Amino acid sequence: MPEAKLIERLAAVYAGEDIRYPHLKVVTLAQWLLESGRGTSDLAKLHYNFGGLKYRPEMAPYASKVRYEAHDGVDNYCGFATLEGFIAGYWAFIGRAPYTGWESNVDTPERFIRFIGPVYTPSTGYAEAVIKLMPEAQALLSAASDAGAAEATPTSPVKDLGTLILDPGHGGTTKVGGSSPNNAISVSGVKEKKLALDFCLILRDLLIAQAAAAKQTIKVVLTRTTDVNVGIAARAAFASTHKAKALVVIHFNGSTNAAASGAETFFAAASNGNTNLADDKAFATAVHAGLLKGLRAVNPATKDRGVKPDDQTGPGALGVLRDTALGNTNRPKKCVACYIEAEFITNRTVDKLLVSGPDAIANRTAVLADVAKAIRGHMAGLP
Ligand SMILES: [Zn+2]
Repeated sequence: MPEAKLIERLAAVYAGEDIRYPHLKVVTLAQWLLESGRGTSDLAKLHYNFGGLKYRPEMAPYASKVRYEAHDGVDNYCGFATLEGFIAGYWAFIGRAPYTGWESNVDTPERFIRFIGPVYTPSTGYAEAVIKLMPEAQALLSAASDAGAAEATPTSPVKDLGTLILDPGHGGTTKVGGSSPNNAISVSGVKEKKLALDFCLILRDLLIAQAAAAKQTIKVVLTRTTDVNVGIAARAAFASTHKAKALVVIHFNGSTNAAASGAETFFAAASNGNTNLADDKAFATAVHAGLLKGLRAVNPATKDRGVKPDDQTGPGALGVLRDTALGNTNRPKKCVACYIEAEFITNRTVDKLLVSGPDAIANRTAVLADVAKAIRGHMAGLP
């Protein structure tokens, strides 16, 4: 179920993050387990705030201000756009004046939490309660190494949907194999690469939960689970390595025209050597219909920019959809593939609804539930 998976998702992202004191990951994750009720608090589910972090003006570069009612009344809390954003925000929060001196107390995880604990939550036994959760946090971090792949295996399956590859666009800080590190940046300052990863992680967990409930088996593999870049051909190669039935690439659009909006989905054109054109088009059409349905449920005015063949050549072409890269030219069972430009994050309304507003994470989940249904529906009919 998505709730149960959220803390695993956070652990997987954290395991892949570069932080200044890596040996403090275990104690900070333990602290977040405690603060968020293992990722089940509304603050965690709706705002990716696993630390109970109240909003402070210094947090503006990391978080938006959200009203939230906790056990001690209504207050302003930090709302984060992505799990990576929360991790960066937590360390920025600790970097503020009340915690001055913490960097002289980092030689062991225990010493760190005994130093910051009394400032963070001045109740007795707080640090010891966090320390008690460290083995659980360590287990989550260790399990995270294979977090790019997840499977639904219900006890009495009626249908195997096969393997799906999800490809979050961009990543990292340098260009790799034709893949740029980032393209669009949202009105609120969130990078497309971060949002694409979050969408793929949510989509994966929804697919697993939906399939399990429908007694279907499915395996979902991500081409990346952290902020690293992967070359275009290497992303497509996941399809042949995993003998996948389908690949879905997720990107967001950006434009200097702030009014630009809408969703569009691409498949490889015949002119780009597509050997399973009709199958790709049918898959792209089904996924796009799910995407549009979901987007219109949160914003009825969502513009349909259509399902389109990618007939570009040169650097603008969507190379990840090429049959040569997907391994389709020497496989009897071909992988269908489509490329979503989910929305324009440079549009203020879209930013509020999907990126930075108080309902952004709930809206994402609602949109992606429809995308997951569409993908499963189509994969069920694939040979
Ligand atoms: Zn992109």
